[in-house]
Amino acid sequence: MVAWQVLTGNLAFVALTISLWAHLQFWLLRHTGRRKDLIFGVMMGCGAIASMLLSVESRPGIFFDLRGSLIAVSGLFGGPFSVAVACVIAGSFRAAIGGEGAVYGVAGMALAGLIGVAGRATCSRKITYPSLIVLSVLIACVPLGSIALLAPPSTEQVFWGFDAPIFILNFAATLTAGAVVLQLGRLALERDLLRAALTQAPDFSYVKDRDSRFVITNERVATYNGFEKPEQMIGLSDFAIATSQRAKGLFETEQRIMATGAPIDGFEELLVAPDGTEKWFSTSKVALKDSDGTIIGLAGATRDITERKRLEQAHVASSNLLSHAMTEMSDGLAMFDEHGILVFCNDQYRNSFPLTGAQRQPGTHIRDILRAVIESGEQTSVPAGAEDVRAAESGTSLTRESEEEIGLVDGRWLKVRTRQAGDGSALVMVSDNTNVKTSELALKSLAEQLRLLAETDGLTDLLNRRAFDQALDRELSRARRTKAPLSLLLIDIDRFKAYNDYYGHLAGDDCLRKVAKCLKQVVRRPADIVARYGGEEFAIILPETGESGAHHVAEQLRLALRQHALQHVGSEHGVVTISIGLAMLMHKDACASDLIARADDALYGAKAAGRDRSYFWREGYRKGQFGGTG
Ligand code: GH3
Ligand code: MG
Ligand code: MG
Repeated sequence: MVAWQVLTGNLAFVALTISLWAHLQFWLLRHTGRRKDLIFGVMMGCGAIASMLLSVESRPGIFFDLRGSLIAVSGLFGGPFSVAVACVIAGSFRAAIGGEGAVYGVAGMALAGLIGVAGRATCSRKITYPSLIVLSVLIACVPLGSIALLAPPSTEQVFWGFDAPIFILNFAATLTAGAVVLQLGRLALERDLLRAALTQAPDFSYVKDRDSRFVITNERVATYNGFEKPEQMIGLSDFAIATSQRAKGLFETEQRIMATGAPIDGFEELLVAPDGTEKWFSTSKVALKDSDGTIIGLAGATRDITERKRLEQAHVASSNLLSHAMTEMSDGLAMFDEHGILVFCNDQYRNSFPLTGAQRQPGTHIRDILRAVIESGEQTSVPAGAEDVRAAESGTSLTRESEEEIGLVDGRWLKVRTRQAGDGSALVMVSDNTNVKTSELALKSLAEQLRLLAETDGLTDLLNRRAFDQALDRELSRARRTKAPLSLLLIDIDRFKAYNDYYGHLAGDDCLRKVAKCLKQVVRRPADIVARYGGEEFAIILPETGESGAHHVAEQLRLALRQHALQHVGSEHGVVTISIGLAMLMHKDACASDLIARADDALYGAKAAGRDRSYFWREGYRKGQFGGTG
C-alpha cells in the first residue's frame, strides 16, 4: 500500500515537471534548437532527481521511482542531446547518493534514455500515441526486469504491494508525460504557424480588442507606424498613430463592426504615408467571436494597392482614349478573337455595311457574318461565297493579313484590311473607297477607250495598220508555237481611183465603209482579224486556217460584195469588186513581211489576171506568169 501512495506522490513530481515545461514553452519561444534541447534535458533530469527523492524500497536495498519515465520522454522528444543532459544530471545525483544499487540505478536510467532515443528514431520524429504506449510499456518493464535480475522471485503479496504499482505507475507516468509533451508540441506547431502567418504576411495584419486597441500586429504594421517591434503597439489605439479625425472615423467604423457583426470588405482609401507619399490602401475588417459567439474584438487586414490602382487608372485612361479614338475615327474598326468571334467594333464599322450592319454585334462569329453577307447579296464582288464561309469555319479567313476591295450593292466600294495582332486575334479596318474606286474605274475605261482609239481606223472602225501589224506578229508566234496553219488575205478594191474620180471622194469614203462592213459580216470567227491595211486595201488574218479554208473565205468575201452590187461605172464589171491575194505561213521561220509579200504577190497576180478574183500565192506571180482564179 505504501508503494502505491509513494509512487502516486511521485507521479505528482512528474506532472509538476511536465507542467513547468508547458509553462516554459512561451518563454522558450525565442530559443531554438540546441538550447531548447538543453533546457528540456535539464528539466527532465531535475524532474528525475525529484522523483528519486520520493522512491520506494521494494526489496531490502532496492529502490524504485518514476525517474525512467522522464528520462525516456527526454530521449523521445528531445533526442540524444537532451537525454544525455538528463542522464548526466540524474545519474550524477544517483551516483552521489551511492549505495549498492547505484550502478544498477545509473544503468537503468541509461537504458530508459536509450529506449526513448530508439523510439524517436523508430518513429522518424513523427511520434504518435500508439508508439507512446509501446514506449510506456517498455519503460514500465525496466524496473521489473531489474527486480527479476536482482531479487528472489516475489511472493503474491510483494507483487501486488510493490511490483504492480511500480509497473502501472511507471507506465502511467511515461504515458501522461509523453502525451502532454506530444500535445504541447502540436499546439506549439499550430501556434508557430498562426504566428508566422500573421507576422510574416506581406499585408498589414492586426487584431484589436473590444475598445479598438491593438492586441496583436504584424511587423509591417509596426514598422509602417515607426515602431521597432510589434509588441510596442499592444494596447495602443489609432488615436496614438493617426490624426484624431481619422482615428475617430476608424474607431466609429470598428465599433459598428463589433456591434453589428457586419464586416467591411475591400474598403479603399488614399492616405499620406509617414514618408509623405500618397498611397492607396484596401482594408477588410471582421468581428472576432469567442466560442460562445460573443464578439471579443476584430481582425483587420490592410493591403497596399497603390500599384494596382495606378494600373487601373492607366487602364481606364487608355481605354477611354481608345474608345474616344474609335468613336471619332472615320474608318470602321473591328476586332475578332483567335476563334473568329467579333470582340468589339465601332459604329462606323457597322454603318459601312448596308445590309448586314445589324448582324455585326460583339459575340457573333465571322462565319455567321459572311453567311449573312452571301444571303443578303450585300456584296457585288463576292466571287464564291461558299468558299469564304468555309474559310471562316476553318478559321483561315482572319489568320492571314489581307487587303481587299469590296463592291457593295448600293454602289459603294469598301477597302477592308485585315491585320494580325500578336495573340491570334485580328484587327479589321474598313474604309470607304468609293471615290478612289470610281476614279480608278473611270481611268481604266478611259485608258481602254484610248487603246481602242489608237487601234481603230477612224473611217471603217476596223483595226488600223498598227494594230494589224501587232496582231500579225502575235498570231505568227502562236502559229509557230501550236504548229497550226495561218492564212493572210490582202484585199484591194478594183479601180477605186476611177470610183473616186467619178463619184467624188466622199462617196469613195462611203464605199470604203460599205466594203469594210461587208468584210466584217462575212468573217465571223472570233479569232479572225479584219483590218484596214491602208487606202482602199484591207487585210484579214485567218488563224488555224489552211489554203482551202482561206480560199473559201476569200471567195465568200468576193461574192458577198458582188451581191451588194454597189454601182461603179468606171469598172469593167459595172459594180464595185475586190481582188484578193492569199498566202499561208509555209514554214516556221517565215516572218510577217514574208507573208505580206507573198499575199501582195498573189494580189498582184489577181489584178493582172483581170481583177474580181482571189489568187493563192504561187511562185512567179510577180514575173507575169498569170494563171486563172485560185
Ligand atoms: P486597181 O484596180 O489597179 O487597184 O485600180 P485602182 O484605181 O484602185 O488603183 P490604185 O490602187 O492605184 O488606186 C487607189 C486609189 O484609192 C487612190 C485613191 O484615190 C483611192 N483612195 C485611197 N485611199 C482612199 C480613201 O481613204 N478615200 C477615198 N475616197 N479614196 C481613197
Ligand atoms: Mg490599191
Ligand atoms: Mg485598187
